[in-house]
Amino acid sequence: MQRSESCPSCDGNDWLPLPGWSRSAMLSDGRFLEAQLNKEHCRDCRLVRHVSPPSKDQLEAIFKEGYELYAHPAGDSFEMQRQRRYADWILALIGARPVETVFEIGAGNGSFLTELHRRMPDWRLKGLEPSPIAAGHARESGFDIQTGLLQDIDVSGADADIVLAINVVEHAHDPTAFLSHAVTAVADNGCLIVVCPDGERPSSELLVYDHLHSFTALAIDNIARKAGLTITQRVIAPVSLGPFQALLLRRSSEADESARIGAPAQGLYEWRYRFLLAWHQLDSALVQRIESAGGNVWAFGGGESAQMLRTYAPETWSRVAGVLSDVPGSFDRQPVRIYGPSTDGQPRTLLLAVRPEIQGAVANRLTHDGNKVVQWDDLILGG
Ligand SMILES: [Zn+2]
Repeated sequence: MQRSESCPSCDGNDWLPLPGWSRSAMLSDGRFLEAQLNKEHCRDCRLVRHVSPPSKDQLEAIFKEGYELYAHPAGDSFEMQRQRRYADWILALIGARPVETVFEIGAGNGSFLTELHRRMPDWRLKGLEPSPIAAGHARESGFDIQTGLLQDIDVSGADADIVLAINVVEHAHDPTAFLSHAVTAVADNGCLIVVCPDGERPSSELLVYDHLHSFTALAIDNIARKAGLTITQRVIAPVSLGPFQALLLRRSSEADESARIGAPAQGLYEWRYRFLLAWHQLDSALVQRIESAGGNVWAFGGGESAQMLRTYAPETWSRVAGVLSDVPGSFDRQPVRIYGPSTDGQPRTLLLAVRPEIQGAVANRLTHDGNKVVQWDDLILGG
């Protein structure tokens, strides 16, 4: 079904199609969904949106039932390593602001709040989370967490110096309403920190079914203004975290006549198009690479990139014997094997299942250990 609504950012209605998938899509927790994934690009502000997004009810069901990203207690080593990096980044952004209370929208299992508490034991930490299982884990860790979606909960009593929404706004049907609602939790002189994928460069977020919008700097600036907010700072995440942006927002005042963010660089549509086309062509290219490498094929990495390969390179994935990783964890409910030297004397081929941006470094290490390595960063980042 084609949508008729105008762009939620610039109100334009000039959309350019992006390559999509008719029957396979990945949810942000890695689950496979047999659904149509088609996105389109706003010619004016370069926002990306779904052509046929899940309904509000479907979206609520995704988050309230069976959402697996945080359906476990906080504390596994991969997750906590990531939260330490997030904490480094966000604490630097908060800087010397006086803080008593932090409120996190989409607190998951409380793993980020756990790390924040370790660093800042005097801060009062609370939040909300739609998944009852994840919210339960966060409460077990000692945090005051309400269960529900932001749109259904009155958060105006939170009175928080810092309100955080880390990787949440891209899931919202109405991002302006999301920001308007989120800011009601902010105390008078407080601020809202929103982290989301950086829409200025194409990345795997375009392949995530429940990411309903991708935001360029201009697109999120328009949306913030509609919500009565001013972006006072926009920073890009360190490479170790991936392609994300953080925005520091506060309620607009009369004095805010800040310059509008300029139009993004030309060529973003073509860049996004090439990126998605490369994902379309990845499966057949990887099958060829695996066949010419020979040997038993194992995937190296059990995170989001492995889930992406399983969804969007299924023929390749069907040839993988199992998943190896440096850190304990599970993939498809099976424990991953901890990476070590090959023990059976058979030649071993490792298909990299890590982000393209870090494949070069990982490949060097694994090749040095005597493995044959199949990487695909050139295919995805080549454009
Ligand atoms: Zn637009």
